Amino acid sequence: MKFINTIYKRLKQKQPYRVIGKSIRNVFFPEKVDFEERQRTLFIEISSICNAKCIFCIYRFNYRSPRLLEVEEFRKIAESAVQSGYHSLNLCPLTGEIFIHPDAVPLIRLAKKAGFEHISATTNGILLYRHNLQELLQSGINQLVISFPGFTETSFAEIFGVRKFPEFIKSVSELLITHQKLDSKVMLCFAPRSYLTREQIMSSDFYKNIVSKFESNLIYLDNTIDIVDSWGGKIKSKDLVKGMKVDRSPIKSLYPLKKVYLCDRLLDVGVLANGDVRLCICRYDSTIETPMDPLFIDKLNNYSSFQELMIKNKEKINQIWADFITGNLPKICRKCPFYRPIKDVKFY
Ligand code: SF4
Ligand code: SF4
Repeated sequence: MKFINTIYKRLKQKQPYRVIGKSIRNVFFPEKVDFEERQRTLFIEISSICNAKCIFCIYRFNYRSPRLLEVEEFRKIAESAVQSGYHSLNLCPLTGEIFIHPDAVPLIRLAKKAGFEHISATTNGILLYRHNLQELLQSGINQLVISFPGFTETSFAEIFGVRKFPEFIKSVSELLITHQKLDSKVMLCFAPRSYLTREQIMSSDFYKNIVSKFESNLIYLDNTIDIVDSWGGKIKSKDLVKGMKVDRSPIKSLYPLKKVYLCDRLLDVGVLANGDVRLCICRYDSTIETPMDPLFIDKLNNYSSFQELMIKNKEKINQIWADFITGNLPKICRKCPFYRPIKDVKFY
């Protein structure tokens, strides 16, 4: 089964298998999801500021204001969310880097204390060394995904657009050593976004001399993602470097074919660093932070708690879903190839 999964994961990253596979899925096999479980997972973005300029990301177009979520604000959201039944927390930002927040580790501890049972986060890893890594690994976090462009100075400059490889290797080395010292159970996933294949990454000095020495069931290198999403057409082939490609749009991923099945990512509810609550914590366009953003739900400070905001906006969320299914898609969704269809929608 593991072997089949590996083959499947690799084929998913190769054209034309990828576009054919996604087209077949979109037409015949919309996924079945556990709605109750998904409605118990919350995204909180603690920083909308990033220290990288990835060539495959919309962040560098500066559509968002730079914000860090206040500690007290975070505490209120976490406690209110747990009270209303949320038990999983995902600290993956819409765009931003969580370890830019000087209190990232205390915030994770606070989330655990509030009652979240599972906590995960995604980082580019560059600033980890500035935090207390022992405290991070003992904070209650379960999984840390480290998105990186390969273990070389060149790939860092070319793909992440910054010359921060020395900081990254310092961070990763310290993290791995601390993980071993503590016999930590936190899962560390190295997720390459690169033109380098997994094998090429494994032949780099840093992998051979450092990372490979710590690999285990909990610490692993994922397959490379070299086919990246276009963010609704904003990221083009010319933005990328040789060996990376913009994804092709599968059948039914574009309007008007897209209607009928809801997009899985509309189940994700997130609180952004500026206090806006929004659906789809993975894609936005230039309308973000304007009244035109069709996936914006409301501002948290208009309510006494996150729980109250959700109760008062259930109809609004249901309406966005119902409109999608009947063909009245938000503009950003019309052009979005990142669509993932799901069936048997259970409304709030
Ligand atoms: S992909 Fe992540 S790390 Fe890269 S610029 Fe975007 S937000 Fe920053
Ligand atoms: S279609 Fe794209 S923008 Fe719309 S909810 Fe899905 S992933 Fe997000």
